[in-house]
Amino acid sequence: MKLELTDDEIISLDGKCESDTQIIVEQIKFSMTLRESGGITAKQSHMIAKILHVAKEKGRLTYQRTGIRYCPCCNDSAGYAKYKRNSINHQKGDENRNKPLYLGAFNLDQGFIVIANHISTGYCDNCKQTMEPVLIKLLKGIKTQIPSHWEDAPHDYLKYDNKICSKCAWEGHEGEMKKLNALMGGKYPGGCPNCEARNEVFGAQNIRLSEGFTIVEIKGEEK
Ligand SMILES: [Zn+2]
Ligand SMILES: [Zn+2]
Repeated sequence: MKLELTDDEIISLDGKCESDTQIIVEQIKFSMTLRESGGITAKQSHMIAKILHVAKEKGRLTYQRTGIRYCPCCNDSAGYAKYKRNSINHQKGDENRNKPLYLGAFNLDQGFIVIANHISTGYCDNCKQTMEPVLIKLLKGIKTQIPSHWEDAPHDYLKYDNKICSKCAWEGHEGEMKKLNALMGGKYPGGCPNCEARNEVFGAQNIRLSEGFTIVEIKGEEK
């Protein structure tokens, strides 16, 4: 079953629902205050609230260039290419259904599984103009890692996966691990800081992922 509720209906659940629903209530409450400050639509404010939620929950955002059929913020579609001349089957200017067009967009929550030409967290280039200045202001102070190629956004934190050493039971995060020489040059975080155990690129994995992640503030000189 799927219910479609208005913002006001969702707000009326405030404090009376399960935690999963309460997260959505908080997002809607927040997006309503955003809208009152003007300049963005309801859908855009919902997306900003969602992006901030992802930033906090996952400790990171992505900023991946992509092409999408429909924008989740403005419902715009790029439509289809148009025929350039008349033929037996079509008129000049008709839509060519075999040639879908794509809107330029950014995916802010790219995971391991990518659905072609679709994003659930992000926005098209048009929405970017109005949404991004608001979003960037709100991202200041949120403990989340933002890719450095997103130049206008704050870069104050790094996210590291938590790790545990199966040899000595050391627990910490990837940023604390010893850097080892990689085969093709460069370094990778592969050594336990507490014992001699190491992760080989194609071999033993002695220091394993444990639950959660750690956010580390980047100090001025390291930026
Ligand atoms: Zn859009
Ligand atoms: Zn160890």
